[in-house]
Amino acid sequence: PSNPQNDFPEAFEICQKFDISEEQMREIVHRLTKEINMGLAKDTHPRAVVKCFITYVQDLPTGKERGKYLALDLGGTNFRVLLVTLKSESEINIESKSYAISKDLMEGPGKNLFDFIAECLASYCKEMHIEKENLPLGFTFSFPLQQVGINKGIMITWTKGFKCDGVVGKNVVELLQDAINRRGDLKVRIVAILNDTTGTLMSCAFANRNCRIGLIVGTGTNACYVEKTSNTEMFEGYQTSNKPNMIVNCEMGAFGDNGVLDFVRTSYDRAVDKQSINPKRQTFEKCISGMYLGELVRHVVVELMGKGLLFKGLNSQAIQEMWRFNTSYISDIESDAVGVHRQASMVMDQLGIRTNVEKDLECLRYICQTVSTRSAKLTSCALVCLINKMNSKDCSVGIDGGVYRYHPHYHRLLTENMNMLLKGSAKFELIVSEDGSGRGAALIAAVSA
Ligand code: ADP
Repeated sequence: PSNPQNDFPEAFEICQKFDISEEQMREIVHRLTKEINMGLAKDTHPRAVVKCFITYVQDLPTGKERGKYLALDLGGTNFRVLLVTLKSESEINIESKSYAISKDLMEGPGKNLFDFIAECLASYCKEMHIEKENLPLGFTFSFPLQQVGINKGIMITWTKGFKCDGVVGKNVVELLQDAINRRGDLKVRIVAILNDTTGTLMSCAFANRNCRIGLIVGTGTNACYVEKTSNTEMFEGYQTSNKPNMIVNCEMGAFGDNGVLDFVRTSYDRAVDKQSINPKRQTFEKCISGMYLGELVRHVVVELMGKGLLFKGLNSQAIQEMWRFNTSYISDIESDAVGVHRQASMVMDQLGIRTNVEKDLECLRYICQTVSTRSAKLTSCALVCLINKMNSKDCSVGIDGGVYRYHPHYHRLLTENMNMLLKGSAKFELIVSEDGSGRGAALIAAVSA
C-alpha cells in the first residue's frame, strides 16, 4: 500500500499535530487528577471545571433487585421510553420505544420538550396497558446536572446540540413531573434521576460485581466512578454516612475548558470548537466523541483538497458542508483491510467525490486513524486516571456509546494505551454495558425506591 509519509508529506505533517506522546499522556493523567480533586473538594468545587457531581447513588446492585420499572432516556440522538422488568439475575425483560427529537424541540422552549416527553410516555403506557399502574420511573438525563438528591437535579448547561430555553438552573425532575401532571392521564412517580454514565456503571455491575467505572463514548463523552464517600465533600453526610461508596459523575467532557489541554489541541480542534453551538465548552469531549470526530477529519480533508493535494480536480458541495462527514464513516473507512479501499471509496462517493485513486484513499484512512487514535488515547488517559484515583488493582469498566461499540479498533486502542500507561500496576477489563440508560435506570430506581 501507499505510504502517506512519502506520498503526502503535508498530510503527514498535519496528522503529526494530532499525535500525543506517552509523556504528554502522562501529563494529561496528572492534570485530570488535579481537576477531579478540585471538583470533589468543597472549597474548590465552585471554580472547578471537571465538576465531579455526586449522584446520591451509594449502593451498587446486589443482583437481587426485582420488579417492574419505567425508564426514560434523554441525552443523545434519540429519546426512549422503556419498561424494564427485573425477573432474575439472568432474566431482565426490556421493552422500549424510540422517538425522534426534532431540531425544533432541541432548540425550542424547554416546556415544549418536556410536554413532548410526557406525551411519548403517556402514549407508550397506553400501548403497554400500564397507564393505571403507579410505576416508579428512573429518568436518565445525560446532560450536566447538579444533583441535590436522588430525584432532584439542577440543569447546569445543555450540550450535544440541545439548547432549550427555561431549563438551565431548574430542577428537571420537577419540569418533567409537572409536564406529566399537566396531562392528568398518567400515574408515574419519578424516583430517580441519573446520568447515562451512572446507568452504564450500574447496568454492568449487575452481572460484574467488580465494575467500578462507567464510560460513555457516544455522541458525547463522560465517565463516572466509585469514590469513597469520605472524599465526596460536596455530599452533606460525607463524614457521617454509613455507606462507604458514592458514584461520582465526573462530567469529564468539560476537562480542558480552562486551557489545560491546549498543549495537545490543534488548529482543527479550535475551528470545530468555534463552529459548534457551545464554543469553549466541552473541550475534552470535542477531541473524543462521535459528534466531533468526523468533523475533525472533514476539516483536514478539506484543507488538503483546498491546497490541491488530495482528490485533485474533484470537489463537492457535500464535503464542504459542516458536519456532513459522519463519525460512522471513520469506522467504515478503518474497516477496510490493509490495501483495500472499498469502504473509503463508497464513503467519498456518498459525499459526491467519485474516486478510486489508491493513494488518496490511503491518505484518507490515515487521517481517520489519526483522529480516532487520538480519541482513544485521551479516553485511555481518563480511565487510567480513575483507576489510579481509586487505587484499584483490578476492576471492570462498563462502556457504552456508538464510538466504542462500532469503531473497529477502539477497544484494542484503549487496551493497548491503558496497558502502556499502567505498566502492569493494575488489571482491568473493558466490557460493553448493555442498555445502561434503561436497565441501569431501573436498577437505580430499585435500589433507591
Ligand atoms: P448517544 O450517545 O447519542 O446516546 P450512542 O451511544 O448510540 O447514542 O452514540 C451515537 C453516536 O455514536 C453518534 O452520534 C455517532 O457520533 C456515533 N456513531 C454512530 N455510529 C458509529 C460508527 N459506526 N462508528 C463510530 N461512531 C459511530
